[in-house]
Amino acid sequence: MKDYDVLIAGGGNAALCAAIAAAKGGASVCIVEAAPKAWRGGNTRHTRNCRIAHDEGNGILTGPYPVDEFMDDLMRVTKGVTDEELAELTLERSKELWDFLSAQGVRFQPSLGGTLSLGRTNAFFLGGGRSMLNALYITAEDAGVDVFYDTRVVGLNIENGFFLSADVEADWQTDAPQRREIQARSFVAAAGGFEANIEWLTEAWGPAAENFLIRGTPYNTGGVLKLLLDADVQRTGEPDQCHAVAVDGRAPKFDGGIVTRLDCVPFGVVLNAEGKRFYDEGEDFWPKRYAIWGRLVAAQPDQVGHVIIDAKSIDLFMPSVFPPETADTLEDLAAKIDLDPQTVKETIAAFNAACLPGSFDHTVHDDCRTEGLEPPKSHWARPIDTGPYYAYTLRPGITFTYMGVKVNRDARMVMADGSVSPNLFAAGEIMAGNILGQGYLAGIGMTIGSVFGRIAGEEAARYVRN
Ligand SMILES: Cc1cc2nc3c(=O)[nH]c(=O)nc-3n(C[C@H](O)[C@H](O)[C@H](O)COP(=O)(O)OP(=O)(O)OC[C@H]3O[C@@H](n4cnc5c(N)ncnc54)[C@H](O)[C@@H]3O)c2cc1C
Repeated sequence: MKDYDVLIAGGGNAALCAAIAAAKGGASVCIVEAAPKAWRGGNTRHTRNCRIAHDEGNGILTGPYPVDEFMDDLMRVTKGVTDEELAELTLERSKELWDFLSAQGVRFQPSLGGTLSLGRTNAFFLGGGRSMLNALYITAEDAGVDVFYDTRVVGLNIENGFFLSADVEADWQTDAPQRREIQARSFVAAAGGFEANIEWLTEAWGPAAENFLIRGTPYNTGGVLKLLLDADVQRTGEPDQCHAVAVDGRAPKFDGGIVTRLDCVPFGVVLNAEGKRFYDEGEDFWPKRYAIWGRLVAAQPDQVGHVIIDAKSIDLFMPSVFPPETADTLEDLAAKIDLDPQTVKETIAAFNAACLPGSFDHTVHDDCRTEGLEPPKSHWARPIDTGPYYAYTLRPGITFTYMGVKVNRDARMVMADGSVSPNLFAAGEIMAGNILGQGYLAGIGMTIGSVFGRIAGEEAARYVRN
C-alpha cells in the first residue's frame, strides 16, 4: 500500500478539517474511516451547528459574541475544569471558522426557533451536519485526499512517542477482513470518543451503563484512544465525564440522533421507577437544564424516569417523534408505564397540593412554584389535574465522552512523561476533554473539532515539509 505524509483515523468533522488543512499544506493524506461510506462521518452527521465567536452580526448570526463572553460561558459550564490556554486558543480561532468552513463549501442558515435558541452564538449548517460533511468530503477528495471506508485502525506502531505506522483492517465487518500496514510520516487521531463502547462505559459507570442509549454512531468505540493510552500518551479528563441528555426511552440503542430528545420536563413531574419525584423539574429554563437530565436519570433505579403531564401542557413543547402513552386517569396511565398506580396517585396528589397559585408563563421564570415539597418545583408548577394524562419514559442518552489524549497548542500529543510527540496529533472528541473537563456549551463540540482539526492538519503538513 502507498505511503502517506499524513494518516488520519476517523471520518467526521475533525478528521476532514485536518485532511483539508494538511492537503492544502502540500501533504499527501489518507483518511481511514471505520464506517461504510453510507454511514461515514460519526457523530458529525447528527450536528446542526457550531458555536463561533464574532465581533459583529453578519445577517445570519444575529449579533456579536465576543471571545470574552464565550470564555465566560465556558468557565461557567465547566466550573473552571478546562485547560485555559487551550480554551482561549480554541475560542479565539473559532472566529476564523465561518470563513474557513465557507471556503470548504459549507453553507449556513439562520437559526430555527425552537427550544434551544442560539441564533446569536451558533452558526447553523444549511442542511445539517450531513450536508456539512458532504461538502467537506468533496473538498478533501478534490484536494487529493484518499479515503478508505469500512477500514479501521487496529494497531499503532509508536516508539517513544514517535509514530511509524498503523495497522488497519479493511472490510472488518465481513468474514474476511484484510489486515495491512500503512506507513505515514505523521498521524492525526480524530476517531471520536468511546461512547459506543458499553464495556468501557461500564468501567466508569458500573452496570448502569448497560441501560444507556447512545445518541450517535456505533463506531466510536474508543479503539484508537486505547491504543494511544497504551503507547504512553497522557490521558486527559475523567472516564465518567460526558455529555448526556434524557431521551425517549424508545429510542434505538445507537444513532437515534436529535429527534429522540424530549423537551417536556419543565411542564410536568418526573417520577422514577418507584413512582417518586427526584429533582426540581422547573429549576431553570430547559436550554440551561436539559444537559443535566441524562445524569439525573442515570442515577435512578434501572436508569429510567417517567415524565407525567396533563392536557394543559401537551402543546407547549416541541412535538415528540414517538407519541406519548395516554389515559383518562392517572391510575390507568401508571399501569400503562408499569408504575404502581397507588404510589403515582399519591405522589401527584402531594405535588398538586403543594402548588401555589400563580400566573403561569413558560417564557419567564414565573411564580408558579411548590411550597413545602421535597424536591421543590421552582417554576411552571401547575397541578396535574386535567385529563387526558400523558407519559413519556426517559433514558440517559449519551452524546459523547470527554476522556481523551492530552494535547498542546499545536494539537501535538503530550506523552505521559510530559514530553511532546513530534508527529502524533489529535483533534475532536478524542481530545475534547482538554477543554471540556465537565459540563457542556451547545455547539462547542464542532468548534473544538474544527479548530483543532485545522491546527492538526496544518502542523502535520508543516512537520512533513520540514
Ligand atoms: C445527536 C447528536 C447531536 C449533536 N449535535 C451537535 C451540534 O449541533 N453541535 C455540536 O457542536 N456538537 C454536536 N454534537 C457533538 C458532535 O457530534 C461532536 O462533538 C463532533 O461531531 C465530533 O467530531 P469528531 O470528528 O471528533 O467525531 P465524529 O464525528 O464522531 O467522528 C469520529 C469518526 O471516527 C471513526 N472511527 C472510530 N473508531 C475508528 C477506528 N478505530 N478507525 C478508524 N475510524 C474510526 C468513526 O467512524 C467516525 O467517523 C452532537 C452529537 C450527537 C450524538
